[in-house]
This record gives sequence, C-alpha cells and structure tokens, in this order.
Amino acid sequence: MSDSPIRKIQATGMMRKLMADHFLELDAAANSTDPDRPKIAWCTSVGPAELLRSFGFLVYFPENHGAVLGSSRAAADLIPSANARGYSPDICSYLTSDVGSYIKQQTPLTKAFGIKGVPKADVLVFNTNQCRDVQDWLAFYQREWDVPMIGIHTQRDLGEIRAEHLDGLIEQHKALIPTLEEVSGRKFDMDKLKEVVASSYRCTLLWKKVLQLAATKPSPITFFDCTIHMGPAVVLRGTAEAEEYYPVLIKELEQRIADGVAAVENENLRFYWEGMPVWGRLRDHAEQFAGQNVCVVASTYCNSWIFEPLGLDDPFEGMARSYTELFIVRNENYKEDYLQRMFDDYGIDGIVYHDAKTCPNNSNCRYGMPQRLGGKSGVPYVTINGDLNDLRLYSDEQARTQFEALAEQIQEGR
Ligand code: SF4
Repeated sequence: MSDSPIRKIQATGMMRKLMADHFLELDAAANSTDPDRPKIAWCTSVGPAELLRSFGFLVYFPENHGAVLGSSRAAADLIPSANARGYSPDICSYLTSDVGSYIKQQTPLTKAFGIKGVPKADVLVFNTNQCRDVQDWLAFYQREWDVPMIGIHTQRDLGEIRAEHLDGLIEQHKALIPTLEEVSGRKFDMDKLKEVVASSYRCTLLWKKVLQLAATKPSPITFFDCTIHMGPAVVLRGTAEAEEYYPVLIKELEQRIADGVAAVENENLRFYWEGMPVWGRLRDHAEQFAGQNVCVVASTYCNSWIFEPLGLDDPFEGMARSYTELFIVRNENYKEDYLQRMFDDYGIDGIVYHDAKTCPNNSNCRYGMPQRLGGKSGVPYVTINGDLNDLRLYSDEQARTQFEALAEQIQEGR
C-alpha cells in the first residue's frame, strides 16, 4: 500500500499507451526514408488540427513537449541554452525549454520512449489566438529546417465574437489550403474534413463530460488528474483513439460516483485553479491539497480544450469559432462572467490564481480580476507567483504557506 493520498485512476495505463503510440508513430514517420511516409505537421495547441489531419498529416504539438519538459523538471537545465541564443528568460518557458532541448539535443522522450528527439516538421502551422510566442517558437524551427510556416492571426481581447471577426478567420483557414496541398501531395477533401471535425466534436463532448463529472460532490477526479488525462483531447482530437479513450475514463469515474468513491478522501473543500499548472510540481500540489482534504475540482486550463462550435454544419465556421471563442482570446468582462459561472457550477470554496511569470497570456490576476471577483462572489482566493516550467521562479515554501492559509481562512469562516 502506498502512503500517497492520491487515488490512482485505472484508465491511466491506457492513456499512457495512447500517448506513447502517438510519439512512436511520429518518430517512425520522421525517420522513414519511404517517399510515401506520412508527412508531419506541427500545430499549436489550439490551432487548426482538424484541417491538418484532413490532409493525412500526423500532427505534433510542441506545447505538449513543453509540458513534458516541465513535468520532468528538465526545463531549468535547458532554458539557459535558449537564453544564450537571445530568447529572453521572460518569454514563454515552454518555448525556451523546448528550444533549449533542441539545442542541447536532450529530451525526456528518449528515456520514456527511446526516441532521439522531436519529429522534424514538414510544415509548421500556428494560430496566434493564445499568444504571439507560438509564432516565434515555430519560427525558430523554420529557420533551422527551412520548411514552410503558415498560420492564422487571431484578434485577441474580444468580448462578443462578431461576424467580421469570423469572416476573416474563415478566410485565413482556407488560405492555408494551397500550402497544405503542396506539402502533403493531396488535394483538399471537404468530406474528409467534415469527418475529422465530426470526430473532434465527439471527442470534445466526451472531454466536457469528464470535466463536468467533477461537479459531483465529492468529486471523482481532480484538476491534477485532468492535466494528465486531457492529453488525448489535446494531441489526438480528430482521431478514433481519442474517441475510444474517454468512454473508458468516464465509465471509471461514473463507477466512483456510484460507489461514493472520492478522488480526495474526505473531501472537505473544493478549489478552483486559475492559470497554468506548475508542471514540475503537479504531484506535490496534488498531495498537498489532498493532505488538507481539499479537492481542486475545476480549472480554466483544462476547460480550454472544449470546442463545441465544431458541431456546426460548416466545418470552417466550426473551426474558426472554436479557436476564437476560447477563454484566452476574450476580454476581462467575458472572463469575469465565465469564472463566476464556473465557481457556481462547481461549488467552489476557494480559488488559486497562478501568476505564471513567463505566461502573461494565461495569468488572469494582473488586471484586478481576483479583487473584482472576490468582491462580487465573496469566494476567498490566493495568488501564487510561479511559472509553468521554470521552477527558479517558484517557491515551494511560499506556495505551501499560501495554500494552507487559504484553507484555514475558509475553515475559520465556516
Ligand atoms: S499561452 Fe503561455 S504557455 Fe502557452 S505558448 Fe503562449 S506564452 Fe507559452
């Protein structure tokens, strides 16, 4: 018996196998000398993955590798190599860890899957919906490999999404087609695109269901579990594998609910995590909160891979809407309303805002949001300073003290 207060999800084995197969398939394609090998498209995490898959590309997501570098705590050793090439320590630490990993030719994928490095791209495709860093990140590889880079420029800080925003985005999606036809050697096929988008939509509904199950009291799953189990929704959406995985996970969670089994034993408080995970401290955080009988039940981060407009009849409108209706694209008023709804839906007792030093885009505590929402909802909160990957910007001691203080404050108020 382990002393860990973390309750293991049985489906994790299946999920890890899917993720391993994903990397191995990419690696095999990247190293194949067969002229008919599948081509590889790099895609930013909320980029037009469905369009790429419709051309038969294997899709690789560099941010997933960024998270792997963070979780394996390799980032701090790698970031300085990117800094030495002029990539500032203040910009996205996914970017700097990944570029550092490429420069040093070191990746945890080697130990995990026997892979030498990340798969070389045939085409690089970005969407600036989340930040400008993704474009600069892919541009590093464009210069290294001299391969085409194309992308979509999304306006940000939007309130209502209006027709004029969407029209431009739909056109931008269509404008990617000639390059994708040339690199893939295939003609655009509308039926194929519809098929992939429909699969991605089914995946989205399944992933949404997983997250909604956490509204149950006690919750059968934590935010920390979700950061791992979101893998297929991020990197395999639009494939049969992702669609096969989530029903297995859902069945397990529903069984937990039926049996009264909680993810955190004696769940007493329910927290919301706002902002990026601290990847190198996921397990620590999961254990700390579970040790206090706190279940972190919901987050903006994990909900960011729900793309319901993919269900629209027109796949181009579905993609354009999905990738611009995202939380990260929206203005403060939209975000405030969204968060308030989440706090209500999940019965939240306390909120942790993570101010990730190198990701202002996913840190929503810099323009008065916690204070405004705190005033409105009365839900207590803390803001921790840290980072997604660069642990030199994070203090274990400080965060622990803040988590404990938040739980105590809520208990005292009861
Ligand atoms: S959103 Fe943040 S973490 Fe993601 S790529 Fe952009 S800067 Fe990096």
